[in-house]
Amino acid sequence: MTSLDLSLDAREVPLGGVRGITVHRTLPHRGLPTVGPWCFVDHFGPTATAMNVLPHPHTGLQTVTWPMAGEIRHRDTLGSDVVLKPGELNLMTSGDGVAHSEVSVGAPDAPMHGLQLWVALPNQRRTGAAGFEHHPELPVAEGRNWAAKILMGELDGTTSPATTHSPMMGAELAVRPGGAVIPLRPEFEHAVLAVDGEALVGGTEIVHRQMRYLAPGRDEVELFVPAARTLLLIGGTPFHEELVMWWNFIGRSHDDILQARNDWENASERFGEVAGHDGQRIPAPPIPEIRLKPRRRTVP
Ligand code: MN
Repeated sequence: MTSLDLSLDAREVPLGGVRGITVHRTLPHRGLPTVGPWCFVDHFGPTATAMNVLPHPHTGLQTVTWPMAGEIRHRDTLGSDVVLKPGELNLMTSGDGVAHSEVSVGAPDAPMHGLQLWVALPNQRRTGAAGFEHHPELPVAEGRNWAAKILMGELDGTTSPATTHSPMMGAELAVRPGGAVIPLRPEFEHAVLAVDGEALVGGTEIVHRQMRYLAPGRDEVELFVPAARTLLLIGGTPFHEELVMWWNFIGRSHDDILQARNDWENASERFGEVAGHDGQRIPAPPIPEIRLKPRRRTVP
């Protein structure tokens, strides 16, 4: 353990209107906007509340959707229409602009549980074309008392087929009682999220939904769990580009965000239209009176 490690509490955020679900958000965190390029970690459920997120836009990021229970229909302005099942990955790359909807399918009270994560796109990719990938199968790395489904990047020699644009990784860890040692890349910073119960991460206990940040410079982390547990491991080289994040947009300046907001409100070609919603969409909130500033990192 290094003195730079820290535990991050989740905060509850209501999503998607009056009947929307509540998510538990650990990133961005005050003083720590990113872990590698990961800039947003939402954990939802388990809940019987259905997901019903109407068309909304994104810029400058990838959305990584990982359901652990429940099925989600994804439609976007590229014409994608996919039902995402537990154990499958959706990866949408906004580039300069894309819009999508995410709606639960199946029984109205079917349990929903999952993660939605954002990855900040680096400057050379953030204004490019949009893209969408659905990965029904992901590779698994295994060690003593652990197995990892590789969502993004590489862990212990096993690499995900999902497209990445900066050095990073993400994996769902299944850990059995008795202690497990997960190999890490020393040039990466990492974070571990307790998805379904408490765990010891590098000797420090985190409770359910908490995240443990691990500073760069380690080649492994020791995990200990009292019962079989699921943990999320994310990491990457520290992301040094300044990010202005507001609503569903990531840019580099207030003006980037203002432009994206106006383009969405004016139904610009930049985003296009998600088919099948009869023109329904989530309107952007009013832009704040103050100029939006980059998120400051105070964690070294
Ligand atoms: Mn979205």
